Amino acid sequence: MVKGIPVSPGIVSGKCLIFKKEKITINYQKISKDQILEEIDSFYKNRKKSVDQIQSIKNLLKIKKMDKEKREIFEGHIMLIEDEEFEKEVLSLIREKHYCASAAVTKVIDFQISKLQEIKNEYLKNRISDFKDIQERIVKNILKIPIVNLSIISKGVVLIAEDLSPSDIIQLKMDKIIGLVTNHGNQNSHFSIIARSMDIPTIVGTGRATEYFKTDDYIVLDSINNRIYKNPSSEIIEKIKKIKKNYLTWKKELNNLRYLPAITLDNRRIILQSNVGSNEDIELVKKNGSEGIGLYRTEFLFMNRSSPPTEEEQFQTYKKAAEIMNPKPIIIRTIDIGGDKFVSYMKIPKEDNPFLGLRAIRIIRNEEEIILSQLRAILRASNFGNLKIMFPMVISLEEIMNLKNKLSFVKNQLNCKKYTFKENIEIGIMIETPSAAIMSKELAREVDFFSIGTNDLIQYTLAVDRGNQSISHLYDPLSPSVLRLMKMVISNAHYEGKEVGICGELASDEFATVVLIGMGLDKLSMNSTSIPRVKKQIRKLKFQESKEFTENILKMSSSRSIRLEIKRFLRRS
Ligand code: PEP
Ligand code: MG
Repeated sequence: MVKGIPVSPGIVSGKCLIFKKEKITINYQKISKDQILEEIDSFYKNRKKSVDQIQSIKNLLKIKKMDKEKREIFEGHIMLIEDEEFEKEVLSLIREKHYCASAAVTKVIDFQISKLQEIKNEYLKNRISDFKDIQERIVKNILKIPIVNLSIISKGVVLIAEDLSPSDIIQLKMDKIIGLVTNHGNQNSHFSIIARSMDIPTIVGTGRATEYFKTDDYIVLDSINNRIYKNPSSEIIEKIKKIKKNYLTWKKELNNLRYLPAITLDNRRIILQSNVGSNEDIELVKKNGSEGIGLYRTEFLFMNRSSPPTEEEQFQTYKKAAEIMNPKPIIIRTIDIGGDKFVSYMKIPKEDNPFLGLRAIRIIRNEEEIILSQLRAILRASNFGNLKIMFPMVISLEEIMNLKNKLSFVKNQLNCKKYTFKENIEIGIMIETPSAAIMSKELAREVDFFSIGTNDLIQYTLAVDRGNQSISHLYDPLSPSVLRLMKMVISNAHYEGKEVGICGELASDEFATVVLIGMGLDKLSMNSTSIPRVKKQIRKLKFQESKEFTENILKMSSSRSIRLEIKRFLRRS
Protein backbone atom coordinates (compact mmCIF):
# COMPACT_ATOMS: atom_id res chain seq x y z
CA MET A 1 0.00 0.00 0.00
CA VAL A 2 1.22 3.50 -0.86
CA LYS A 3 0.34 6.83 0.76
CA GLY A 4 0.97 10.43 -0.26
CA ILE A 5 -0.78 13.78 -0.05
CA PRO A 6 -4.46 13.45 -0.99
CA VAL A 7 -5.46 16.50 -3.02
CA SER A 8 -8.83 15.58 -4.51
CA PRO A 9 -11.19 13.20 -2.69
CA GLY A 10 -12.86 10.09 -4.07
CA ILE A 11 -12.51 6.32 -4.45
CA VAL A 12 -11.86 4.59 -7.74
CA SER A 13 -10.57 1.21 -8.85
CA GLY A 14 -9.19 -0.10 -12.09
CA LYS A 15 -6.02 -0.80 -13.99
CA CYS A 16 -3.16 1.63 -13.73
CA LEU A 17 -0.89 3.12 -16.36
CA ILE A 18 2.62 4.16 -15.42
CA PHE A 19 3.78 7.29 -17.19
CA LYS A 20 7.50 7.95 -16.95
CA LYS A 21 9.35 10.80 -18.55
CA GLU A 22 12.60 8.98 -19.12
CA LYS A 23 15.80 11.00 -19.00
CA ILE A 24 17.58 10.93 -22.31
CA THR A 25 21.37 10.67 -22.19
CA ILE A 26 23.09 11.18 -25.51
CA ASN A 27 26.47 9.66 -26.15
CA TYR A 28 28.59 12.10 -28.18
CA GLN A 29 31.65 9.84 -28.41
CA LYS A 30 32.86 9.18 -31.96
CA ILE A 31 31.88 5.86 -33.52
CA SER A 32 34.29 3.69 -35.47
CA LYS A 33 34.17 3.52 -39.29
CA ASP A 34 32.54 0.06 -39.30
CA GLN A 35 29.64 1.33 -37.18
CA ILE A 36 28.64 3.99 -39.71
CA LEU A 37 26.30 1.81 -41.79
CA GLU A 38 24.66 0.43 -38.69
CA GLU A 39 23.93 3.94 -37.39
CA ILE A 40 22.60 5.10 -40.76
CA ASP A 41 20.33 2.08 -40.81
CA SER A 42 19.15 2.89 -37.26
CA PHE A 43 18.37 6.47 -38.30
CA TYR A 44 16.23 5.38 -41.25
CA LYS A 45 14.41 2.65 -39.30
CA ASN A 46 13.58 4.95 -36.40
CA ARG A 47 12.67 7.85 -38.60
CA LYS A 48 10.11 5.60 -40.26
CA LYS A 49 8.96 4.28 -36.87
CA SER A 50 8.45 7.88 -35.69
CA VAL A 51 6.41 8.76 -38.77
CA ASP A 52 4.26 5.63 -38.30
CA GLN A 53 3.65 6.50 -34.65
CA ILE A 54 2.59 10.04 -35.48
CA GLN A 55 0.41 8.78 -38.31
CA SER A 56 -1.45 6.44 -35.99
CA ILE A 57 -1.96 9.19 -33.40
CA LYS A 58 -3.28 11.41 -36.16
CA ASN A 59 -5.68 8.69 -37.32
CA LEU A 60 -6.89 8.15 -33.79
CA LEU A 61 -7.56 11.84 -33.39
CA LYS A 62 -9.54 11.74 -36.62
CA ILE A 63 -11.63 8.85 -35.37
CA LYS A 64 -12.31 10.70 -32.16
CA LYS A 65 -13.13 13.89 -34.10
CA MET A 66 -10.70 15.77 -31.93
CA ASP A 67 -9.71 19.29 -32.78
CA LYS A 68 -8.39 20.02 -36.19
CA GLU A 69 -5.55 22.06 -34.74
CA LYS A 70 -4.06 19.07 -32.92
CA ARG A 71 -4.18 16.99 -36.10
CA GLU A 72 -2.44 19.73 -38.02
CA ILE A 73 0.34 19.85 -35.45
CA PHE A 74 1.02 16.15 -36.06
CA GLU A 75 0.93 16.64 -39.84
CA GLY A 76 3.55 19.36 -39.40
CA HIS A 77 5.70 16.94 -37.36
CA ILE A 78 5.66 14.38 -40.16
CA MET A 79 6.75 17.01 -42.68
CA LEU A 80 9.67 18.04 -40.47
CA ILE A 81 10.81 14.46 -39.96
CA GLU A 82 10.68 13.66 -43.67
CA ASP A 83 12.40 16.88 -44.68
CA GLU A 84 15.24 16.14 -47.15
CA GLU A 85 17.58 18.77 -45.74
CA PHE A 86 17.21 17.27 -42.27
CA GLU A 87 18.02 13.81 -43.62
CA LYS A 88 21.10 15.09 -45.48
CA GLU A 89 22.50 16.84 -42.42
CA VAL A 90 22.01 13.84 -40.13
CA LEU A 91 23.70 11.52 -42.64
CA SER A 92 26.61 13.90 -43.06
CA LEU A 93 27.20 14.06 -39.28
CA ILE A 94 27.18 10.26 -39.08
CA ARG A 95 29.43 9.75 -42.12
CA GLU A 96 31.84 12.65 -41.74
CA LYS A 97 31.89 13.51 -38.05
CA HIS A 98 31.33 9.93 -36.86
CA TYR A 99 28.45 10.69 -34.55
CA CYS A 100 26.00 7.93 -33.64
CA ALA A 101 22.43 8.33 -34.96
CA SER A 102 20.93 9.75 -31.72
CA ALA A 103 23.76 12.29 -31.34
CA ALA A 104 23.48 13.34 -35.00
CA VAL A 105 19.71 13.87 -34.80
CA THR A 106 20.11 15.83 -31.55
CA LYS A 107 22.86 18.03 -33.00
CA VAL A 108 20.98 18.83 -36.22
CA ILE A 109 17.74 19.70 -34.43
CA ASP A 110 19.53 21.65 -31.68
CA PHE A 111 21.15 23.75 -34.41
CA GLN A 112 17.79 24.36 -36.09
CA ILE A 113 16.29 25.40 -32.75
CA SER A 114 19.16 27.80 -32.04
CA LYS A 115 18.63 29.40 -35.47
CA LEU A 116 14.90 29.79 -34.78
CA GLN A 117 15.61 31.38 -31.43
CA GLU A 118 17.49 34.21 -33.14
CA ILE A 119 14.81 34.91 -35.73
CA LYS A 120 12.35 37.77 -35.19
CA ASN A 121 9.53 36.06 -37.10
CA GLU A 122 6.91 34.92 -34.56
CA TYR A 123 5.47 32.18 -36.75
CA LEU A 124 8.85 30.48 -37.13
CA LYS A 125 9.61 30.88 -33.43
CA ASN A 126 6.40 29.05 -32.67
CA ARG A 127 7.86 25.99 -34.33
CA ILE A 128 10.55 25.47 -31.69
CA SER A 129 8.31 23.20 -29.62
CA ASP A 130 7.56 21.12 -32.74
CA PHE A 131 11.28 20.61 -33.30
CA LYS A 132 11.74 19.62 -29.66
CA ASP A 133 8.90 17.12 -29.89
CA ILE A 134 10.21 15.37 -32.97
CA GLN A 135 13.76 15.40 -31.60
CA GLU A 136 12.55 13.62 -28.48
CA ARG A 137 10.49 11.12 -30.45
CA ILE A 138 13.21 10.06 -32.92
CA VAL A 139 15.92 9.93 -30.25
CA LYS A 140 13.73 7.91 -27.88
CA ASN A 141 12.97 5.47 -30.67
CA ILE A 142 16.67 5.10 -31.53
CA LEU A 143 17.52 4.54 -27.85
CA LYS A 144 14.52 2.22 -27.41
CA ILE A 145 12.96 4.38 -24.68
CA PRO A 146 9.19 3.80 -24.55
CA ILE A 147 6.97 6.72 -25.56
CA VAL A 148 3.60 7.25 -23.90
CA ASN A 149 1.34 9.74 -25.59
CA LEU A 150 -0.84 11.37 -23.00
CA SER A 151 -3.27 12.84 -25.46
CA ILE A 152 -4.51 9.49 -26.72
CA ILE A 153 -4.95 7.39 -23.59
CA SER A 154 -8.08 5.52 -24.38
CA LYS A 155 -9.17 3.33 -21.48
CA GLY A 156 -10.48 4.15 -18.01
CA VAL A 157 -7.22 4.04 -16.09
CA VAL A 158 -5.58 5.44 -13.01
CA LEU A 159 -2.56 7.34 -14.29
CA ILE A 160 0.58 7.10 -12.18
CA ALA A 161 3.43 9.48 -12.99
CA GLU A 162 6.58 10.81 -11.41
CA ASP A 163 5.34 14.34 -11.84
CA LEU A 164 2.82 16.03 -14.07
CA SER A 165 2.88 19.61 -15.23
CA PRO A 166 -0.20 21.77 -15.75
CA SER A 167 0.27 21.35 -19.48
CA ASP A 168 0.43 17.53 -19.14
CA ILE A 169 -2.84 17.48 -17.27
CA ILE A 170 -4.73 19.51 -19.83
CA GLN A 171 -3.37 17.28 -22.59
CA LEU A 172 -4.84 14.24 -20.85
CA LYS A 173 -8.20 13.05 -21.98
CA MET A 174 -9.72 13.42 -18.58
CA ASP A 175 -12.90 11.57 -19.34
CA LYS A 176 -10.70 8.50 -19.81
CA ILE A 177 -8.71 8.90 -16.62
CA ILE A 178 -10.46 7.94 -13.42
CA GLY A 179 -7.70 8.76 -10.95
CA LEU A 180 -4.26 10.36 -10.69
CA VAL A 181 -1.21 9.53 -8.61
CA THR A 182 2.19 11.21 -8.67
CA ASN A 183 5.52 10.68 -6.90
CA HIS A 184 6.10 14.41 -6.46
CA GLY A 185 3.85 17.40 -5.98
CA ASN A 186 2.08 19.22 -3.27
CA GLN A 187 -1.39 20.27 -2.16
CA ASN A 188 -1.24 23.62 -3.92
CA SER A 189 0.79 23.00 -7.04
CA HIS A 190 -1.16 23.95 -10.16
CA PHE A 191 -1.43 20.31 -11.12
CA SER A 192 -3.28 19.55 -7.86
CA ILE A 193 -5.55 22.54 -8.29
CA ILE A 194 -6.60 21.41 -11.75
CA ALA A 195 -7.14 17.81 -10.60
CA ARG A 196 -9.43 19.11 -7.84
CA SER A 197 -11.33 21.38 -10.17
CA MET A 198 -11.92 18.43 -12.49
CA ASP A 199 -13.09 16.33 -9.54
CA ILE A 200 -10.64 13.52 -10.25
CA PRO A 201 -9.56 11.50 -7.17
CA THR A 202 -5.87 12.31 -6.81
CA ILE A 203 -2.96 11.59 -4.47
CA VAL A 204 0.36 13.38 -5.04
CA GLY A 205 3.74 13.25 -3.31
CA THR A 206 3.80 9.45 -2.89
CA GLY A 207 7.54 9.39 -3.46
CA ARG A 208 7.55 5.92 -5.02
CA ALA A 209 4.27 5.07 -6.75
CA THR A 210 5.91 4.65 -10.17
CA GLU A 211 8.29 2.08 -8.67
CA TYR A 212 5.73 0.24 -6.56
CA PHE A 213 3.11 -0.24 -9.29
CA LYS A 214 3.41 -1.65 -12.82
CA THR A 215 1.25 -0.78 -15.82
CA ASP A 216 -1.93 -2.92 -15.77
CA ASP A 217 -1.79 -3.64 -12.02
CA TYR A 218 -5.28 -3.58 -10.57
CA ILE A 219 -5.42 -0.84 -7.96
CA VAL A 220 -7.80 0.89 -5.59
CA LEU A 221 -7.20 4.59 -5.09
CA ASP A 222 -8.82 5.92 -1.92
CA SER A 223 -7.95 9.60 -1.70
CA ILE A 224 -10.36 10.10 1.21
CA ASN A 225 -8.20 8.00 3.50
CA ASN A 226 -4.96 8.50 1.60
CA ARG A 227 -4.36 4.94 0.49
CA ILE A 228 -3.49 3.26 -2.81
CA TYR A 229 -3.75 -0.55 -2.81
CA LYS A 230 -2.23 -2.99 -5.30
CA ASN A 231 -4.37 -6.09 -6.01
CA PRO A 232 -6.34 -5.58 -2.78
CA SER A 233 -7.70 -8.59 -0.85
CA SER A 234 -11.45 -9.22 -0.83
CA GLU A 235 -11.49 -7.94 2.77
CA ILE A 236 -10.05 -4.59 1.73
CA ILE A 237 -12.39 -4.38 -1.24
CA GLU A 238 -15.37 -4.86 1.10
CA LYS A 239 -14.05 -2.20 3.46
CA ILE A 240 -13.51 0.22 0.58
CA LYS A 241 -17.02 -0.41 -0.73
CA LYS A 242 -18.44 0.71 2.62
CA ILE A 243 -16.26 3.85 2.69
CA LYS A 244 -17.35 4.66 -0.84
CA LYS A 245 -21.03 4.19 0.02
CA ASN A 246 -20.75 6.52 3.03
CA TYR A 247 -18.84 9.05 0.95
CA LEU A 248 -21.47 9.06 -1.78
CA THR A 249 -24.29 9.45 0.78
CA TRP A 250 -22.42 12.38 2.35
CA LYS A 251 -21.96 13.94 -1.08
CA LYS A 252 -25.65 13.54 -1.83
CA GLU A 253 -26.57 15.24 1.44
CA LEU A 254 -24.29 18.12 0.57
CA ASN A 255 -25.92 18.34 -2.81
CA ASN A 256 -29.22 19.12 -1.12
CA LEU A 257 -27.68 22.42 0.02
CA ARG A 258 -27.28 23.48 -3.59
CA TYR A 259 -30.08 26.01 -3.69
CA LEU A 260 -29.72 27.29 -0.14
CA PRO A 261 -27.77 30.49 0.48
CA ALA A 262 -24.40 30.57 2.25
CA ILE A 263 -25.59 32.45 5.30
CA THR A 264 -24.46 32.33 8.92
CA LEU A 265 -26.88 31.64 11.77
CA ASP A 266 -26.92 35.37 12.50
CA ASN A 267 -27.67 36.28 8.87
CA ARG A 268 -24.29 37.31 7.46
CA ARG A 269 -24.42 36.46 3.77
CA ILE A 270 -21.22 35.19 2.18
CA ILE A 271 -20.86 34.89 -1.58
CA LEU A 272 -19.49 31.54 -2.75
CA GLN A 273 -18.05 31.43 -6.24
CA SER A 274 -16.01 29.09 -8.43
CA ASN A 275 -12.52 28.94 -9.80
CA VAL A 276 -12.38 27.66 -13.39
CA GLY A 277 -9.73 27.08 -16.03
CA SER A 278 -11.94 26.72 -19.10
CA ASN A 279 -15.53 26.94 -20.30
CA GLU A 280 -15.82 23.19 -19.81
CA ASP A 281 -15.54 23.71 -16.05
CA ILE A 282 -18.72 25.81 -16.07
CA GLU A 283 -20.88 22.69 -15.96
CA LEU A 284 -19.57 21.97 -12.44
CA VAL A 285 -20.12 25.64 -11.51
CA LYS A 286 -23.81 25.28 -12.25
CA LYS A 287 -24.12 21.84 -10.65
CA ASN A 288 -22.75 22.98 -7.32
CA GLY A 289 -24.89 26.05 -6.78
CA SER A 290 -22.09 28.56 -7.26
CA GLU A 291 -22.93 32.26 -7.41
CA GLY A 292 -20.52 33.19 -10.13
CA ILE A 293 -16.93 32.71 -11.22
CA GLY A 294 -14.53 34.37 -8.81
CA LEU A 295 -11.46 33.33 -10.77
CA TYR A 296 -11.24 32.38 -14.45
CA ARG A 297 -7.62 31.24 -14.97
CA THR A 298 -7.17 32.15 -18.63
CA GLU A 299 -3.61 30.88 -19.06
CA PHE A 300 -4.85 27.39 -19.89
CA LEU A 301 -6.32 28.77 -23.11
CA PHE A 302 -2.77 29.68 -24.10
CA MET A 303 -1.07 26.38 -23.27
CA ASN A 304 -0.36 23.29 -25.38
CA ARG A 305 -0.50 25.10 -28.67
CA SER A 306 2.06 26.52 -31.00
CA SER A 307 0.79 30.11 -31.09
CA PRO A 308 -1.38 32.23 -28.80
CA PRO A 309 -5.13 32.23 -29.32
CA THR A 310 -6.20 35.16 -31.50
CA GLU A 311 -8.27 38.03 -30.13
CA GLU A 312 -11.28 36.64 -31.99
CA GLU A 313 -10.80 33.14 -30.55
CA GLN A 314 -10.55 34.56 -27.05
CA PHE A 315 -13.54 36.82 -27.62
CA GLN A 316 -15.65 33.80 -28.59
CA THR A 317 -14.54 31.90 -25.48
CA TYR A 318 -15.22 34.75 -23.04
CA LYS A 319 -18.49 35.62 -24.80
CA LYS A 320 -19.71 32.06 -24.46
CA ALA A 321 -18.79 32.00 -20.75
CA ALA A 322 -20.48 35.38 -20.20
CA GLU A 323 -23.66 34.20 -21.88
CA ILE A 324 -23.82 30.91 -19.98
CA MET A 325 -23.26 32.59 -16.61
CA ASN A 326 -25.28 35.77 -17.20
CA PRO A 327 -26.32 37.60 -14.99
CA LYS A 328 -23.88 35.99 -12.55
CA PRO A 329 -20.45 37.61 -12.59
CA ILE A 330 -17.22 36.23 -14.02
CA ILE A 331 -13.86 37.60 -12.91
CA ILE A 332 -11.52 36.99 -15.82
CA ARG A 333 -7.92 36.97 -14.70
CA THR A 334 -5.46 38.06 -17.33
CA ILE A 335 -2.90 35.46 -18.36
CA ASP A 336 -0.72 34.20 -15.51
CA ILE A 337 1.97 32.40 -17.46
CA GLY A 338 5.44 31.75 -16.04
CA GLY A 339 6.23 30.03 -12.73
CA ASP A 340 5.25 26.40 -13.37
CA LYS A 341 3.15 27.22 -16.46
CA PHE A 342 4.96 27.56 -19.75
CA VAL A 343 4.20 28.26 -23.35
CA SER A 344 6.80 27.66 -25.99
CA TYR A 345 5.95 30.65 -28.16
CA MET A 346 6.57 33.39 -25.61
CA LYS A 347 9.81 35.22 -25.15
CA ILE A 348 10.46 33.91 -21.65
CA PRO A 349 14.11 32.94 -21.26
CA LYS A 350 15.11 30.02 -19.07
CA GLU A 351 15.11 31.30 -15.51
CA ASP A 352 16.78 30.11 -12.31
CA ASN A 353 13.80 31.22 -10.22
CA PRO A 354 10.73 31.13 -12.45
CA PHE A 355 8.30 31.88 -9.60
CA LEU A 356 10.26 35.09 -9.01
CA GLY A 357 10.71 35.77 -12.68
CA LEU A 358 8.80 36.78 -15.77
CA ARG A 359 5.38 35.75 -14.59
CA ALA A 360 1.83 37.07 -15.12
CA ILE A 361 1.55 40.83 -15.77
CA ARG A 362 5.35 41.08 -15.87
CA ILE A 363 5.33 39.63 -19.40
CA ILE A 364 3.89 42.94 -20.58
CA ARG A 365 7.49 44.11 -21.14
CA ASN A 366 8.23 41.27 -23.56
CA GLU A 367 4.81 40.32 -24.84
CA GLU A 368 2.69 43.45 -24.64
CA GLU A 369 0.46 42.50 -27.55
CA ILE A 370 -0.60 39.26 -25.85
CA ILE A 371 -1.97 41.22 -22.87
CA LEU A 372 -3.50 43.94 -25.04
CA SER A 373 -5.31 41.51 -27.30
CA GLN A 374 -6.61 39.68 -24.24
CA LEU A 375 -7.95 42.94 -22.79
CA ARG A 376 -9.65 43.75 -26.09
CA ALA A 377 -11.25 40.29 -26.19
CA ILE A 378 -12.55 40.61 -22.61
CA LEU A 379 -13.92 44.10 -23.26
CA ARG A 380 -15.71 43.00 -26.42
CA ALA A 381 -17.21 40.02 -24.57
CA SER A 382 -18.37 42.31 -21.74
CA ASN A 383 -21.43 43.13 -23.86
CA PHE A 384 -22.75 39.62 -23.33
CA GLY A 385 -22.73 39.21 -19.56
CA ASN A 386 -21.30 40.38 -16.29
CA LEU A 387 -17.54 40.35 -16.82
CA LYS A 388 -14.83 41.87 -14.62
CA ILE A 389 -11.08 42.02 -15.19
CA MET A 390 -8.48 40.94 -12.65
CA PHE A 391 -4.69 41.34 -12.80
CA PRO A 392 -2.42 38.78 -11.10
CA MET A 393 0.98 39.16 -9.36
CA VAL A 394 0.77 42.89 -8.74
CA ILE A 395 3.49 44.28 -6.49
CA SER A 396 3.19 48.04 -6.86
CA LEU A 397 1.03 51.04 -7.53
CA GLU A 398 3.04 51.85 -10.67
CA GLU A 399 2.07 48.51 -12.17
CA ILE A 400 -1.61 49.23 -11.62
CA MET A 401 -1.32 52.72 -13.09
CA ASN A 402 0.44 51.26 -16.11
CA LEU A 403 -2.20 48.54 -16.56
CA LYS A 404 -4.98 51.07 -16.26
CA ASN A 405 -3.29 53.15 -18.97
CA LYS A 406 -3.11 50.09 -21.19
CA LEU A 407 -6.77 49.42 -20.56
CA SER A 408 -7.67 52.99 -21.58
CA PHE A 409 -5.49 52.56 -24.65
CA VAL A 410 -7.30 49.40 -25.80
CA LYS A 411 -10.68 50.98 -25.01
CA ASN A 412 -9.70 53.79 -27.42
CA GLN A 413 -8.64 51.26 -30.02
CA LEU A 414 -12.01 49.53 -29.75
CA ASN A 415 -13.88 52.83 -29.89
CA CYS A 416 -12.03 53.73 -33.08
CA LYS A 417 -13.08 50.41 -34.57
CA LYS A 418 -16.68 51.06 -33.45
CA TYR A 419 -16.83 48.10 -31.10
CA THR A 420 -19.20 48.39 -28.17
CA PHE A 421 -18.20 47.25 -24.68
CA LYS A 422 -18.94 47.93 -21.03
CA GLU A 423 -17.07 51.23 -20.57
CA ASN A 424 -17.07 51.04 -16.76
CA ILE A 425 -16.10 47.37 -16.49
CA GLU A 426 -14.86 46.67 -12.96
CA ILE A 427 -11.18 45.99 -12.50
CA GLY A 428 -9.56 44.24 -9.61
CA ILE A 429 -6.25 42.77 -8.58
CA MET A 430 -5.06 39.66 -6.89
CA ILE A 431 -3.33 40.23 -3.62
CA GLU A 432 -0.80 37.45 -3.75
CA THR A 433 2.51 39.12 -2.99
CA PRO A 434 3.51 40.51 0.42
CA SER A 435 4.26 43.80 -1.33
CA ALA A 436 0.68 44.14 -2.61
CA ALA A 437 -0.64 43.27 0.85
CA ILE A 438 1.53 45.93 2.48
CA MET A 439 0.51 48.50 -0.16
CA SER A 440 -3.14 47.44 -0.09
CA LYS A 441 -4.42 50.76 1.23
CA GLU A 442 -3.06 52.69 -1.75
CA LEU A 443 -3.92 49.91 -4.20
CA ALA A 444 -7.52 49.75 -2.96
CA ARG A 445 -8.05 53.36 -4.08
CA GLU A 446 -7.17 52.42 -7.66
CA VAL A 447 -9.30 49.33 -8.19
CA ASP A 448 -12.85 48.07 -7.66
CA PHE A 449 -12.07 44.88 -5.77
CA PHE A 450 -9.38 42.62 -4.34
CA SER A 451 -9.08 38.87 -4.42
CA ILE A 452 -6.53 37.34 -2.07
CA GLY A 453 -4.52 34.62 -3.79
CA THR A 454 -3.35 32.66 -0.79
CA ASN A 455 -1.60 30.00 -2.87
CA ASP A 456 1.04 32.52 -3.84
CA LEU A 457 0.71 34.83 -0.85
CA ILE A 458 1.72 31.91 1.38
CA GLN A 459 4.62 30.91 -0.87
CA TYR A 460 6.01 34.45 -1.13
CA THR A 461 5.41 35.39 2.52
CA LEU A 462 6.97 32.24 3.93
CA ALA A 463 9.54 31.85 1.13
CA VAL A 464 8.33 28.27 0.57
CA ASP A 465 7.96 26.98 -3.01
CA ARG A 466 4.31 25.88 -3.28
CA GLY A 467 5.21 22.86 -5.43
CA ASN A 468 8.18 21.57 -3.44
CA GLN A 469 7.25 18.43 -1.59
CA SER A 470 10.32 18.38 0.67
CA ILE A 471 9.36 21.65 2.34
CA SER A 472 5.61 21.15 2.24
CA HIS A 473 5.55 21.06 6.07
CA LEU A 474 6.57 24.73 6.00
CA TYR A 475 3.79 25.74 3.61
CA ASP A 476 1.33 26.72 6.27
CA PRO A 477 -1.83 28.65 5.36
CA LEU A 478 -2.62 29.26 9.00
CA SER A 479 0.70 30.76 9.95
CA PRO A 480 0.20 33.98 11.93
CA SER A 481 2.19 36.04 9.41
CA VAL A 482 -0.10 35.05 6.53
CA LEU A 483 -3.28 35.55 8.56
CA ARG A 484 -2.17 38.97 9.79
CA LEU A 485 -1.32 40.06 6.25
CA MET A 486 -4.73 38.92 5.09
CA LYS A 487 -6.47 40.79 7.88
CA MET A 488 -4.57 43.94 6.95
CA VAL A 489 -5.67 43.60 3.31
CA ILE A 490 -9.32 43.07 4.27
CA SER A 491 -9.34 46.08 6.62
CA ASN A 492 -7.71 48.32 4.02
CA ALA A 493 -10.10 47.25 1.28
CA HIS A 494 -13.14 47.78 3.49
CA TYR A 495 -11.80 51.14 4.67
CA GLU A 496 -11.80 52.24 1.03
CA GLY A 497 -15.25 50.74 0.52
CA LYS A 498 -14.00 47.96 -1.75
CA GLU A 499 -15.06 44.33 -1.79
CA VAL A 500 -12.50 41.69 -0.92
CA GLY A 501 -12.59 37.97 -1.56
CA ILE A 502 -10.21 35.02 -1.54
CA CYS A 503 -9.57 32.70 -4.46
CA GLY A 504 -6.65 30.64 -3.16
CA GLU A 505 -7.13 27.00 -2.14
CA LEU A 506 -7.54 28.02 1.51
CA ALA A 507 -11.06 29.16 0.57
CA SER A 508 -12.08 25.50 0.21
CA ASP A 509 -10.73 24.36 3.57
CA GLU A 510 -13.73 24.23 5.90
CA PHE A 511 -11.41 24.03 8.90
CA ALA A 512 -10.34 27.60 8.10
CA THR A 513 -13.84 28.89 7.22
CA VAL A 514 -14.47 30.33 10.69
CA VAL A 515 -11.31 32.43 10.44
CA LEU A 516 -11.98 33.55 6.86
CA ILE A 517 -15.50 34.64 7.77
CA GLY A 518 -14.30 36.11 11.04
CA MET A 519 -11.73 38.25 9.26
CA GLY A 520 -14.56 39.78 7.25
CA LEU A 521 -14.06 38.36 3.75
CA ASP A 522 -17.03 39.12 1.51
CA LYS A 523 -16.51 36.31 -1.00
CA LEU A 524 -14.89 32.90 -1.12
CA SER A 525 -14.00 31.46 -4.52
CA MET A 526 -12.91 27.84 -4.84
CA ASN A 527 -13.14 24.71 -7.00
CA SER A 528 -16.84 24.16 -7.60
CA THR A 529 -17.04 20.77 -5.95
CA SER A 530 -15.98 22.23 -2.57
CA ILE A 531 -18.78 24.79 -2.48
CA PRO A 532 -21.45 22.60 -0.81
CA ARG A 533 -18.96 21.53 1.90
CA VAL A 534 -17.97 25.10 2.73
CA LYS A 535 -21.57 26.25 2.55
CA LYS A 536 -22.52 23.62 5.12
CA GLN A 537 -19.84 24.97 7.43
CA ILE A 538 -20.91 28.61 6.99
CA ARG A 539 -24.51 27.73 7.82
CA LYS A 540 -23.33 26.30 11.16
CA LEU A 541 -21.40 29.45 12.19
CA LYS A 542 -22.37 32.74 13.80
CA PHE A 543 -20.64 35.74 12.24
CA GLN A 544 -20.35 37.76 15.43
CA GLU A 545 -18.88 34.81 17.31
CA SER A 546 -16.48 34.01 14.43
CA LYS A 547 -15.33 37.63 14.41
CA GLU A 548 -14.55 37.70 18.12
CA PHE A 549 -12.88 34.31 17.91
CA THR A 550 -10.71 35.48 14.99
CA GLU A 551 -9.63 38.62 16.85
CA ASN A 552 -8.07 36.29 19.42
CA ILE A 553 -6.59 34.04 16.77
CA LEU A 554 -4.83 37.02 15.19
CA LYS A 555 -3.07 37.73 18.47
CA MET A 556 -1.55 34.25 18.61
CA SER A 557 2.03 33.77 17.59
CA SER A 558 2.17 30.17 16.36
CA SER A 559 0.13 28.24 13.84
CA ARG A 560 0.12 25.25 16.21
CA SER A 561 -1.79 27.20 18.83
CA ILE A 562 -4.04 28.66 16.13
CA ARG A 563 -4.94 25.18 14.92
CA LEU A 564 -5.58 23.91 18.44
CA GLU A 565 -7.83 26.87 19.13
CA ILE A 566 -9.82 26.34 15.91
CA LYS A 567 -10.22 22.66 16.79
CA ARG A 568 -11.57 23.59 20.23
CA PHE A 569 -13.91 26.16 18.71
CA LEU A 570 -15.30 23.73 16.14
CA ARG A 571 -15.80 21.05 18.78
CA ARG A 572 -17.78 23.51 20.92
CA SER A 573 -20.01 24.77 18.13
C1 PEP B 1 -3.31 32.06 -5.83
O1 PEP B 1 -2.12 32.33 -5.98
O2 PEP B 1 -3.86 31.89 -4.70
C2 PEP B 1 -4.17 31.89 -7.00
C3 PEP B 1 -5.47 31.71 -6.88
O3 PEP B 1 -3.59 31.90 -8.23
P1 PEP B 1 -2.81 30.64 -8.87
O4 PEP B 1 -3.07 29.45 -7.98
O5 PEP B 1 -3.35 30.47 -10.23
O6 PEP B 1 -1.39 31.08 -8.84
MG1 MG C 1 -1.39 32.98 -7.88
